[in-house]
Amino acid sequence: MAIQVPIKVFRYRPGTAPHFERYQVTVPDDATVIDVIEGVWAEHDRNFMFRHACHHASCGTCAVRLNGYERLPCIVPVTEALAGRQELVVEPLRNFPLVGDLVVDVAGFFQKQAASGLVITRAAEATLSGQPFAHSELFSQAGALEERAYNRFENCIECGICISACPTMAATDKFWGPAALAGIRRATLTTGDCQEKAALLALADSEQGVWRCHSAFECTESCPQDVDPGGAIMSLRREIVGRKVKHLFGAG
Ligand code: SF4
Repeated sequence: MAIQVPIKVFRYRPGTAPHFERYQVTVPDDATVIDVIEGVWAEHDRNFMFRHACHHASCGTCAVRLNGYERLPCIVPVTEALAGRQELVVEPLRNFPLVGDLVVDVAGFFQKQAASGLVITRAAEATLSGQPFAHSELFSQAGALEERAYNRFENCIECGICISACPTMAATDKFWGPAALAGIRRATLTTGDCQEKAALLALADSEQGVWRCHSAFECTESCPQDVDPGGAIMSLRREIVGRKVKHLFGAG
């Protein structure tokens, strides 16, 4: 059965004032919110900007703020999103530069992920050389950028939702951010190399690392993949402090 869905969407172009516009979109009653967003483009305005790709929470591309919360609209049923509401409200992610409408610039996010050591390699995602990515390469200026592109977190889909939800990211874009720190934590647990682990912990202990976190746990609350970045940050803190205490005792 087809239903009419009222939707209020954020509209923006550089040089113009950000504002909301309202539309009605016709979708099947088992549609998801991404279908409604696509309907705005298909039925009303072919200049409407939004991002999408997989339609099944695998790529993270379509992440937006839906009714005030960070969500992947491809997995939110319209009926659930509309329950008790007059209309859907869709906005771009926060804490990213705006490009237009629902599209934000994620380049800085990906660069930070790579710079922090996007080192979690799925067994099925071998590098071009066919070998797992060596953690030590992270600290080499000549690091194989081409190979890094084949590496990603095992669970993290790099949707940027945790960045949008993070109150520290709202204050400074210098912070490594929840996703990168979760990646660093995972790497410290998987590397068997003590020097690499020490280097990763030093990165986490740096000025823009774990101590910048306000422990709000909004990242963990909003992450659609249960990566638990907040837990990873707390875990890194415990290990960093534990090592320092141990070093003090050893030095004494
Ligand atoms: S940690 Fe979770 S919320 Fe953050 S980018 Fe990865 S999947 Fe998205």
